[in-house]
Amino acid sequence: MIKMQMFSLLALVICAAGQLMAQSGAPVTLVKAGRLLDPRTGNVLMPAAVLIENGKIKEVGPPSQVQSHAPPGAKTLDLGSATLLPGLIDAHTHLLLDVVVPPTADSARRFNGDFVADMLLAIVESPSKRVLVGAQMAREDLDSGFTTVRNLGHSGIDGDVALRDAINAGRISGPRILASGRKITSLGNYVQSLNPALADSILRQELFEVANLEEGRRAVDENLFYDIDVVKVTLDDDGVGINDQIMSAIVDEAHRAHKKVAVHAVSQSAIQMAIEAGADSIEHGNDVTDQQLKAMREKGIFFDITPTFWSGFFSKITEPSIVRAPTSKADLAASQERRGRFVQRILKSGVKFAAGSDMCWFYPGKTRGQASATMFSHLHEAGMPTLDILRSVTINAAQLLGWQDRVGAVEPGKLADLVAVAGDPLADITELERVRFVMKDGQVVRNDLAAR
Ligand SMILES: [Zn+2]
Repeated sequence: MIKMQMFSLLALVICAAGQLMAQSGAPVTLVKAGRLLDPRTGNVLMPAAVLIENGKIKEVGPPSQVQSHAPPGAKTLDLGSATLLPGLIDAHTHLLLDVVVPPTADSARRFNGDFVADMLLAIVESPSKRVLVGAQMAREDLDSGFTTVRNLGHSGIDGDVALRDAINAGRISGPRILASGRKITSLGNYVQSLNPALADSILRQELFEVANLEEGRRAVDENLFYDIDVVKVTLDDDGVGINDQIMSAIVDEAHRAHKKVAVHAVSQSAIQMAIEAGADSIEHGNDVTDQQLKAMREKGIFFDITPTFWSGFFSKITEPSIVRAPTSKADLAASQERRGRFVQRILKSGVKFAAGSDMCWFYPGKTRGQASATMFSHLHEAGMPTLDILRSVTINAAQLLGWQDRVGAVEPGKLADLVAVAGDPLADITELERVRFVMKDGQVVRNDLAAR
């Protein structure tokens, strides 16, 4: 009887080991492709090979050289003439939100009040349900080549942390996540549309409202209890709620725990407050002045560009039901010109910059990944050169996250996060909307390129 049990135990161990081998595949993989584009230098290696061992990049170079270092039995993936790139990084997203825009709304009405109502509908859902929405958004983002994302709030209490951990444990498929937990803010508009009898509990699961120094520090500490990676603060345009001292206390508390602080700041006064408090990145930054760009450059503060609403985004997602009047087309042209100047000023200033989709919208006919990938053409239509776009979602974004030692480049020692596109993204940035191959941690997530 005892022998029998031992035998079955042994069989179980062998079986488990066998499963493990099958799941992880060959420990060494050689990926070959026609081209490898390095966003850091803009150089293209043709043809190229990447040797991957235990999920990390071991060697990069011409196939003739790299191939000879691959051990016998290494798995080879030949991607033909495709272009290899580092896995894409979305520096600003909201995986646990999938807000549906009512088809009757136009953008002017939305920003006069309706905007918040749609958002509220999304946040009153149960936190558990939202994590499952997040699981779908995460899988779809990864499928489009986003191997790392920074999730900046609207996560229920700790939904993004739970999602991050489930992905890291291999329970579900998705990008590597930096989670911010609840965002720290003053309540402002959120309260206006809420039933006062319910407002408190709904908002408490979504946000930390802070009105003094102590509350600012406590909000950071409570987020740390949930094991967040980054602190997100939303500043009011008019400086209501969070003032200079509170902002400084939040940054101080976060930095003491070695966490970076990302600040949603749109108006000049909000941007100034974030700069002076020593924030690590400014999100959106619409009204930034040249003086402020200079101050950001000097302090090493990142500008995180979020081109979500550019190129008539809302018109596009409501297009099936609304025919645009010529006047709104003229408005669109004027705002495109404004965005062009905005992008040029950022590039000229020498400030460090990255880009984030800020995606939280349901885009009819597109997966979340395809919706997030619309940011590339938005940046390009605003005049950003293709190499800068690539940098903003690879090497620069990695630095913004503080993960430059792990991701953002196809270099020895980095995690094996790779994507491939069929054409040349430097010539046509929309190639990034059609990612054909995705690898994360050395594991193939997607491969639409013909096996050779
Ligand atoms: Zn956002």
